[in-house]
Order: sequence, then structure tokens, then C-alpha cells
Amino acid sequence: MSDWTNVIQATTMHDPISGAINTPIQLSSTFNQPDFDNFGHFDYARSGNPTRESGEAAVAKLEHGKHGYLFSTGMAAISSILFTLSAGDHIVVSKHVYGGTFRLLTDILPRWGITHDMVDFSDLDAVAAAITPATKALYIETPSNPTLHITDITAVVRLAKVHHLFTIADNTFLSPFLQKPLDLGVDIVVHSATKFLAGHSDILAGAVVVNRSDLADKIYFIQNAVGATLGVLDTWLLLRGIKTLGVRMTHASRSAQKIAEYLAAHSKVTRVLYPGLVNHEGYAIQMKQANSGGAVLSFDVGSEAHARTVVEALKIPVFSVSLGAVETIISYPPKMSHAELNAQALANVGISPGLLRFSVGLEDTDDLIVDLEQALAQI
Ligand SMILES: *Cc1c(COP(=O)(O)O)cnc(C)c1O
Repeated sequence: MSDWTNVIQATTMHDPISGAINTPIQLSSTFNQPDFDNFGHFDYARSGNPTRESGEAAVAKLEHGKHGYLFSTGMAAISSILFTLSAGDHIVVSKHVYGGTFRLLTDILPRWGITHDMVDFSDLDAVAAAITPATKALYIETPSNPTLHITDITAVVRLAKVHHLFTIADNTFLSPFLQKPLDLGVDIVVHSATKFLAGHSDILAGAVVVNRSDLADKIYFIQNAVGATLGVLDTWLLLRGIKTLGVRMTHASRSAQKIAEYLAAHSKVTRVLYPGLVNHEGYAIQMKQANSGGAVLSFDVGSEAHARTVVEALKIPVFSVSLGAVETIISYPPKMSHAELNAQALANVGISPGLLRFSVGLEDTDDLIVDLEQALAQI
């Protein structure tokens, strides 16, 4: 079935009791057990509830997975995956991961004896060299935030299989509408559903989707034990947001492509990072594993002072953290998403002082280009 139909089918309920086509919001923390010996499908809402279950089925369907889990935030989802590891375990992680993931890996997990190495995943020999007898998993994020590095998912999966490792992919930047890592052999897909899945800068949410039942059991165990679950009101908003995922991703990524081409030709812009540009180093891989370049790009205006000028001059985008929403969001990663990294760590991952991240929303493309034109003219 086409993704367009799948998105609607996954979020349309046929409630057997009322016929409601939207998932009912079941505000109940506990469920009556009619039989002393045999309990029903739901008992306590942390362990499961009908609204969250609908949302979990929806994200699983979108990612072509069998089991979905919803968490209170993307970081809760990522932590819950990593909590399946034990003291002594090691993982190899792309050095281009989200700042919050970096913080979890460097400041929390080592205290529990879970270690990692960060490697440039475009160099598979370096990835292979980082694998030790204690390594359990490979963790990737593609495209990466905010430098839009592309990782060859199929090649990473192949390497993981050779070493009997499982693979984790953060698919936040493209959403399942543009890329489906499980179809490419990844074991665990994770999302900050705060971004494109929810799509309206209104809720925080995280999602995990898997096919393997052994991994599903482990993740469900952690979800229930740790309890960072998504509330029912937020689940409803997530489902509402997902209904328009297809139209949002299609419009925003077409717009991003045009804006990237415009910026690439602009004399004040020193580089544009967008995997839909033919001269982007990851272009061929991106076109093989995803449907487009996505809706996020980054561009460099040469210095922090220029970045400030552009941000202050732009009229349409909001200047904020986050991405993947109906409104265009411009952010300055060194002070925002990657504030955890010191100057050396920023340089190491290619976040230069003039780099701005641009998450394209649903405004008119030409209006955004006109706005960029007047802002860049002030440099
Ligand atoms: C935002 C983000 C996260 C963290 O998600 P939260 O919902 O903010 O907790 C993880 N990965 C990526 C790629 C993100 O953009």
C-alpha cells in the first residue's frame, strides 16, 4: 500500500463501540478487572492503555515495523533503548549524533559502565576498527543533525551482521514518509516524534519501532519499568499530526530543495549542507535510501557575526530550537542543539561558527527566498 494511504489508515480508527473514526482519549490510569483470576488486556496505564496503543500501532505501521512504543520525549525513547544494555557493554556511535544523545552517552551511561566510541560512519573501516568483543550495537543518525551527513544504512547493517551486532537508527530528520530504516535491515528505529511526526511544535514525544520480538520484549520491559511513557492527550495530538505527514513532508522537502539550490548560488553563503544537492558528498546514497533530501538544510554565512545579522534580519522564520514543524525554524546549533559541545568538539563535527540550521515549514517557498534575500543582503 502506498505511504499516502498508509498514513491515513494508520491514524483512522474504527472504534468498535462508537464507530468513532478518531482514537478516543481514554483518560484512565487504571482499568476494571472483571474476573478475579483472569485480568483483561489493560490493567494500569503505564503498562498500556487504549489511546497509546493506537498511537503505537500507527507509528509501527508507518515504519513497516511489527512493534511500536511511544515515550514522553525523543530522549526518553533513546534512553530506553540504551537501558537495554548492561555494564561492560560497548556501542559504536556516529560522531554526528544529536547533542542530547551525545550528553547521555558521555555524561550518564559511562557511570553505569556502558561505554562507546564515536566514529565517522562514512568511513566503514573506522567503524569496523572501533568494534571490540564488548560491542553490542551500532548507532546511526542519517541525515545527521545539523551537518546533514549521510550514512549508508545498508552498508552499516551488513557490517553489523558480520559482527553479530544490532543496529539503531535515529530517523527523526526524514520521518518514515521519506525513509524506512527497518526495510533496509535496521533493528531499532527511534524518533523524536516532537519533530516531523507530530509536526506542529505543540508536543514532545518519542517513538521506537522494531520488528524483532526479542528486542520488542526488552524495550517494552524498559518502557513499563522506567515509565517514560507518552500521555494520552499527547498521543491524540501525535495521531492528529501524523494524518498530514504526507502533505507536510512533500511540500516542505520540495521547498527545501529549491531553497538549498538558491542558497548554493548565493555569494554570501560559503557552503550549503543539503543531501538533495547533487554535489553533496552523500547525494547518491541519499537518493538510494530515501525519497528526497528532506526538509532540513544548514548553511554557512562565514562567521558568528554574519549568522547574528541573518537571524536578526529574517522576518518569516521563528528563531528557536527544534525542527520539523509547520513553521520554518532557523536555529544556531553552537548556542542551541549543540551547546553541550565545546569549541573543539564543534569543530570536530563540522559545526562552524557561521552555520545556521533551517527547517523548512509550509510557508510559500518564494516568500521564504525573498526573506532570505533581504537578510543576506545585510551582511
Ligand atoms: C530533537 C531530537 C532528539 C531528541 O528528542 P526530544 O523529543 O527533544 O527529546 C533526538 N534526535 C534528534 C535527531 C532530534 O532532532
